[in-house]
Amino acid sequence: MLVLGIETSCDETAAAIVRSDRSIRSNIVYSQIEEHRSFGGVVPEIAARAHLEMIDGVIRRSLEVADVTLTEVDAIAATGGPGLIGGVIVGTMTAKAMALAADKPYLAINHLEGHALTARLTNELEFPYLLLLVSGGHCQLLSVMGPGVYKQLGTTMDDAVGEAFDKTAKMLGLGLPGGPAIEGAAKIGNPKRFNFPRPLKGRTGCDFSFSGLKTAVRQAILNTGSDTLSDDDVNDIAASFQTAVADTIADRCANAISSFNETYPKDKTLVVAGGVAANSELRARLSALCQMTGFRFISPPPALCTDNAAMIAWAGIERLHLGLTSDLNFAPRPRWPLEELATVMS
Ligand code: AMP
Ligand code: MG
Repeated sequence: MLVLGIETSCDETAAAIVRSDRSIRSNIVYSQIEEHRSFGGVVPEIAARAHLEMIDGVIRRSLEVADVTLTEVDAIAATGGPGLIGGVIVGTMTAKAMALAADKPYLAINHLEGHALTARLTNELEFPYLLLLVSGGHCQLLSVMGPGVYKQLGTTMDDAVGEAFDKTAKMLGLGLPGGPAIEGAAKIGNPKRFNFPRPLKGRTGCDFSFSGLKTAVRQAILNTGSDTLSDDDVNDIAASFQTAVADTIADRCANAISSFNETYPKDKTLVVAGGVAANSELRARLSALCQMTGFRFISPPPALCTDNAAMIAWAGIERLHLGLTSDLNFAPRPRWPLEELATVMS
């Protein structure tokens, strides 16, 4: 089975062809980062227009690279939410039009489900597993029981962790995207120079909070007393910030592992997904935590952690196996919590 996946929920226009034997035949990602850079963040209106301009070419390229024609594709899967609605509409309308014209099944995929199931594309992995989803818009711990069947163990009370990386990078005068810029600066910085807060660390539960950490960074910048930060200041703040984030997330994950263990004593896998999963300090901390607790640790390669369409095509394959397709009158959803998936899609 071959599925075309389309992803347009934020600032990447992406299309991919994936086979049910888990081979990725093509995975084309056009990043709009240059269009948004001078604004210091993603501008929804610009994103929507850029998706509209790029989508046809990106899809055509995905078919060319995979060396397949649309006729050979078994279904068309596109992100139906959550995300910036302009972009989601572009991807959804394109997928519906192609599905109708080529007489193929159409699947509206929840973007978060795409991230959640990626580990089954890259690894041999059975349900259930514990998932840490850390991206620009989300920070959640979930039990994944099957496509469409998720239980949220914790979520952020304020900012998503990727957002915290991006805002901190902005305060430090580092460019977009913030995560890789912080990680680069942190490599040569001193993580012990600033003792930033570890929000909620030591408390019960699996929720997250990052706004206090962000405020602490702003305060540390003000405390330097100068208008321009030195390279050392920037690198040390980045390193101290990144360590505080990794510490906090590891603490929350330790609680989630205990809680997951109580419900599923035989299933011991932690998967990390989403753009922030590309962070190597976070990966190292989680990998150490898993070793201590006897959990298997899976983190898909960074290119499949950040937004891409291979994960959307794969989620489509998982759903097709269960006979779940979508109606052509599916309405794109700016908000679409994973826990609502079972009721909305069945
Ligand atoms: P996504 O929302 O899944 O597309 O992920 C994008 C988010 O991941 C942005 O907030 C990035 O700053 C963040 N990100 C990407 N790479 C890294 C990294 N190496 N370290 C930390 N955050 C990252
Ligand atoms: Mg994402």
